[in-house]
Amino acid sequence: MPTIDALANRLNEYLDTDQINLVRRAYYYAEQAHDGQSRRSGEPYITHPLAVANILAEMHMDHQSLMAAMLHDVIEDTAIAKNHIDKQFGGTVADLVDGVSKLTHLEFETKAEEQAENFQKMALAMAQDIRVILVKLSDRLHNMRTLGPLRPEKRRRIARETLDIYAPIALRLGLNDFRIELEDLCMRAIHPMRAERIESAINQRRGNRKQLVARIEQALSDHLMAESLPGRVMGREKHLASIYNKMKEQGKSLSEILDVYAFRIVTNSVDSCYRILGSVHNFYKPMPNRFKDYIAIPKVNGYQSLHTTLIGMNGVPIEVQIRTEDMEEMANNGIAAHWLYKTNEGDDASIPQSRARMWVQGLLEMQNQAGNPLEFIENVKIDLFPDEIYVFTPKGKIMELPKGATAVDFAYAVHTDVGNACVGCMINKKVAPLSRPLESGDSIKIITAPGAHPNGAWLSFVVTGKARSAIRHYLKNRRRNDSEELGRRLLDKALQDFNTSIDQLDEDLIADYLAEDEAENLSGLLEEIGLGHRMAYLVARRLVNPEAEQVHAEDAMTIGGNEGMVLSYAKCCRPIPGDPIVGVISAGKGMVIHYDGCRNISDLKEDQDRLIHLKWDKELHGEFLVELRVEVKNQRGVIAKIASAIALADASIESINVLEKDASTGQIQLTIAVSGRLHLSDVMKRVRKMKELIKVSRVRG
Ligand code: MN
Repeated sequence: MPTIDALANRLNEYLDTDQINLVRRAYYYAEQAHDGQSRRSGEPYITHPLAVANILAEMHMDHQSLMAAMLHDVIEDTAIAKNHIDKQFGGTVADLVDGVSKLTHLEFETKAEEQAENFQKMALAMAQDIRVILVKLSDRLHNMRTLGPLRPEKRRRIARETLDIYAPIALRLGLNDFRIELEDLCMRAIHPMRAERIESAINQRRGNRKQLVARIEQALSDHLMAESLPGRVMGREKHLASIYNKMKEQGKSLSEILDVYAFRIVTNSVDSCYRILGSVHNFYKPMPNRFKDYIAIPKVNGYQSLHTTLIGMNGVPIEVQIRTEDMEEMANNGIAAHWLYKTNEGDDASIPQSRARMWVQGLLEMQNQAGNPLEFIENVKIDLFPDEIYVFTPKGKIMELPKGATAVDFAYAVHTDVGNACVGCMINKKVAPLSRPLESGDSIKIITAPGAHPNGAWLSFVVTGKARSAIRHYLKNRRRNDSEELGRRLLDKALQDFNTSIDQLDEDLIADYLAEDEAENLSGLLEEIGLGHRMAYLVARRLVNPEAEQVHAEDAMTIGGNEGMVLSYAKCCRPIPGDPIVGVISAGKGMVIHYDGCRNISDLKEDQDRLIHLKWDKELHGEFLVELRVEVKNQRGVIAKIASAIALADASIESINVLEKDASTGQIQLTIAVSGRLHLSDVMKRVRKMKELIKVSRVRG
C-alpha cells in the first residue's frame, strides 16, 4: 500500500526538503481531518488523496499542487472551512483546494453535445489556476480506477460524466496519457461485456503478434540505420476505447482493426520526420489516401505528427506515426510536460499561468517550423486564458457570454423581450444588482415586470452588442414616439385657431400637403413638429385655407409632466406647477417650458409663432427643481437647521452652495425638489420660522 514516506522518497527526485515537508504536513492534516471516514472499498479515506498526489508526482507537479491534492476533499467532506486551510497552508493552496471543490459541486445534467462542450469550457474558465484542473483530473482518474465497489448504475453515471467532460478536457490540454486511461476505464464501466470481449481477443492474439511486431520493428530500425536517419522505433498497442470507437464509427470488425500493426518513430527534428517518411515510403508501399500531415496542420489540441499506413510483408497493414521528441512529449503529457522536466527554471516559470503560456509558446514555436498554427492557437488560448464566461439559466442550460457581462447582457442574450422587461435579477438565488459582472458557474434568474422599460443607464455597464443595440433601439423609438405625440398636440392646438383638428381634416388635403412639403408621412411630419424643425402654426395655416381668418383660442395646451424626452423645463427660470408658463420650440430639442416672465424669452414675445401658451394639468404629479436664496445670521449649525426645516416640509435638497459669508451673515443658494407652488410655499414658511433667518426668496434666472 502506498505511504507518505514512499511518496516523499519519490519527491526527492525533484523537490527540495522544505517543499517535501510541506507536502507531508498537508498529508497529516488531511489524515486527521478525514479520520474515521473510509472509502467504499473499506480503506481509510486518506488513501484517496494520497493516491491523487502520487498521480501528480508522476507528472512532477509542484509542491503546492501536491498539497492541494492532499487537501482536495477536506472542505467538501469535513467541517473544515477554507480560511483554516488558508491559515495553515497559505492562500495559494487554499485557493487551489477551493477551486477543486467548486468543480466538484458543478452538476452536469443535460446530455446535449453542445452543452457538454460548454460545460468543459465553463470548468476551464472557473479554474483561474490551471493546476486546479490538473488536480481535478487526477482526482477523477483515481476515482475511475477505483469504481469497483460501486453499484453498476453509479459506475455508469460517473463514467458517462467522465467521458463527456473530463476526458475531453484532458484532450484539450494535450494530456493524452490521462485521456487514454480515462477513456479505457469509462469503456469498461459503461460496456463491461464488450470491453471484456475486446480485451480477450487482444490477449489471444498477443502471442502471434509479438513475433511479427518484433520483426517489423527490427526491419524498420535496420532500414533507418542503413539510411543514416536518426530515430527510435516503437511498437504500440491500440487502446481499448479507440478500438471500440473505430469499430463503431468505421464499421470495422474487431480482427480488421487488430490485424493492423502500429509503430511510432521518434526522431530529432522536423526535417528528419519528412526524410524518414520518404524513406519508409520507399521501403514499404504506402496505402493511398492514408497519409496525414499533422505537423503542417496540427490537430486543434496542438497534436503534431505524420501519419501513414504501409503495406508490409505478406500484405500486413502497418500504421506509422513519425514525430520529434518534443512532439512526443507534448502528445503524451501536454501542458504537464512543462512541469516534468522544467521544475527549476527562473521565477517566471513558477507561476502556473505563465507555464501554461510557455506551453502554448512551445507549441507555437514547433508549429512555426512548418504549418499554420492559427486555428490551434485560438483554440488553446480560449481554454486557458478565457475571454468568455459560462453561466447557467434557471433550467440548467449553459450560456456563453463575454467576460464582464452583467445580468442585463444575460437577459438580452436569452431574448430581447426578456431584456426589455427586466427589472431585477437573482444571482445564485440571491438578489443582486443588475450591474454586477457575472462569473463562470453563476446561475442567473431574471425578474421581469410587464410594462417595464430598458433604462438608459444600463448602457454604462452592458458589454454585449446585442444588449447595447436593443437598449439604444428602444430609447430611440421612445424618443420618436414622444416627438410624434407632442407634434400631434402642437398641431392640433394650432389647428384649433382655425376651428378644426387633425382628425377633422380631409385626408386628401393632408396627402396633398405631405407631397408638396416632401414629408414622408403624417407621423414623420408630426415628429418634425415635435422636434421643433417645423412651426405648428405655419403647418396648420397651410393645411387649412390660407385665407381663413386667424382666431386666438382661449384654451391653452395642457402639460401633464409625462411628455417624455422631447419636453424639458428651462434651467434659467425653473418653472413649477402653479407658475404661469409658456413653451418655446427649439430645433432638435423639442419644447422647452419657461416661466411666463422669464427674461430669456422676452425677445420672443413678439414672435407668437414660436411661443405656445400652456397650462399645467390639474392631476400633475412629479418633482420639480427650484432655486432658493436664503440669508441668515451666521451661527454654528445654521446650514443643518435650514436643511432640516426643508426636510420637515418633505422636500429634498439637490444642492447647497454658500455664496457669501462674513462674521455676522451668510448667503446660501439651494436647489430643492418640490411638487409645485403650494409645496414651495410650505417649505418657505418653515424656513421663515427659523430665528436665524433674515430673508428667503425664490430665484428665477
Ligand atoms: Mn476526491
